[in-house]
Amino acid sequence: MLGFLRQVGDYTRDTVDAARNIAQGLSVTFDHLQRRPITIQYPYEKLIPSPRYRGRIHYEIDKCIACEVCVKVCPINLPIVDYEPGPTKKISKVLRHYSIDFGVCIFCANCVEYCPTQCLSMTEEYELTSFDRHNLNYDSVALGRLPTAIKADPSVRPLRELAELPKGELDPHNVPVNQPAYGPQPKQVPNPTILS
Ligand code: SF4
Ligand code: SF4
Repeated sequence: MLGFLRQVGDYTRDTVDAARNIAQGLSVTFDHLQRRPITIQYPYEKLIPSPRYRGRIHYEIDKCIACEVCVKVCPINLPIVDYEPGPTKKISKVLRHYSIDFGVCIFCANCVEYCPTQCLSMTEEYELTSFDRHNLNYDSVALGRLPTAIKADPSVRPLRELAELPKGELDPHNVPVNQPAYGPQPKQVPNPTILS
């Protein structure tokens, strides 16, 4: 009899414990319901890519000297540099065509880093989807198009990434776009001392 009563007592205590634990869990869950969702409502809201974001490559054909450095440093030798021999020794190459296939590109920016005339640059454009895979092969005209800027799109609410928020802020919805980020801005950081 005593054993039975002890079992009933243990069972009752475990039931009360379980009920308390469930109530605590539910209270935490319901507390979360009061908080503002942190969801970025794409495509009506978009995060502004960071300044060093590696998006679609921009190309300026008038600066290109057809040196093919971008091809040599590309891990997949991707850029197509189509040129003809130039008329003189000084003008040894005449560029005819330049293209990059973004269906193959891994957006590593090696070509941008090593281009001697800086005619390549990375943009903040990442919406490159296409129904036809061949449309991803950008020629010099498509590469030369200025990128779309999220901040300049009136149909989109631009939001800042976590690293760009002011001190103490975690949700970009609360922060005006123009409020400076926490910490020194890139222009305020002194150039590193180069040791010889
Ligand atoms: S490295 Fe620059 S200049 Fe040379 S071919 Fe490539 S894009 Fe043109
Ligand atoms: S970003 Fe990288 S993979 Fe793409 S073309 Fe340039 S070097 Fe090649």
